[in-house]
Amino acid sequence: MLRDLDMDYLCIFYSEIIACCRMDYKYLFFDLDNTLYDFDASEKMALGHVLTENNVAFSEDHLQTYKKINKACWTRFENGEISQEKLRYLRYELFLEALNLDADAVSFGDLYLRKLSESACLFPETVPLLDRLQGNFELVLISNGLKEVQRPKIRKSGIYDYFKEIVISDEIGVAKPHAGFFDYTFEKLNHPDKEKVLVIGDNLNSDIKGGINYGLDTCWLNLHKTNYDQKIQPKYIIENVREILDVLNLDV
Ligand SMILES: [Mg+2]
Repeated sequence: MLRDLDMDYLCIFYSEIIACCRMDYKYLFFDLDNTLYDFDASEKMALGHVLTENNVAFSEDHLQTYKKINKACWTRFENGEISQEKLRYLRYELFLEALNLDADAVSFGDLYLRKLSESACLFPETVPLLDRLQGNFELVLISNGLKEVQRPKIRKSGIYDYFKEIVISDEIGVAKPHAGFFDYTFEKLNHPDKEKVLVIGDNLNSDIKGGINYGLDTCWLNLHKTNYDQKIQPKYIIENVREILDVLNLDV
């Protein structure tokens, strides 16, 4: 009896050791915004610019109001409640309403998106990290966003050529966490073994839940060090994207 229990514990112990030491990933699927790219900084800069253009002095309250509205709209989009087309300007309509500002939501939104597309706010860790990973893994960028914002900013940031594939939801008509997004990505990569793929991202819903539901290992970047939803269980949790090297057992 004791022997059987010991064996059970040993099996669990060894399976955990093996899981911890996994080094057999071949494909790293990186999210972009707030994973490799400092979206918070870029958003603040773009919003400040557009508010100034509309003769409104930028404040932290404005930023927090916009973030809340934007996040709620993206969640509705990711849950399939609104279309990408609706998402595009709804955020600005709601924001202008919240500020009681009489401005055109389309012009406001277009200028904001243009400023976003022109910014190149990578995290300082990003390029050294990609340099370290390049050659050891196939790097794939998986991003929910608008093509006219994401493509230019990836190019401007200088990281375009690190990636074997760049998949942007707006271009394919389906977003993370939906299986169709991952189906498209897998198709582009000639259907790799799912066990060879690790998804890395900051968003528990689109990146982590999306990856888990597709049968992939996931690494959650808990950028803002928040308490996490126990219902969604990433395989790994890190607080700085550089820590992915520890997950992969790579030296700096
Ligand atoms: Mg993100």
